[in-house]
Amino acid sequence: MHEVSIAIGMVKELTRIALENNAKKVTGVKLKIGKMSGIVADSLIFAFDAVKLEHPLMSSAAISIEEVPLVYECNTCKKTFETDNLSFQTCPFCGSYSLKLLSGEEMHIENVEIETEEESHV
Ligand SMILES: [Zn+2]
Repeated sequence: MHEVSIAIGMVKELTRIALENNAKKVTGVKLKIGKMSGIVADSLIFAFDAVKLEHPLMSSAAISIEEVPLVYECNTCKKTFETDNLSFQTCPFCGSYSLKLLSGEEMHIENVEIETEEESHV
């Protein structure tokens, strides 16, 4: 499963962020995933929840995913538009076939919530 290797990569990246910030643990992570990225959000959540258990720093991290719509720019009329349609597109304004994908292919960590030593003592 593709999502498992993504989850492992994410956990590595989160560990790096956590260590840089002297975090005691990671409590939450917010991801943005483009609809065109080929990643299935539910599968990634499932994979992350399995992989995180091997990492004490990460084991209580809650994951949330925001799906990023496809945004195209028309090379002919220069207008941009959003779509949920993954199949072949034409410009809704001028009907041009010459389009540039601006977003929708990415997968990135948008936000990480951490708990540091100082904050956690009562
Ligand atoms: Zn156009």
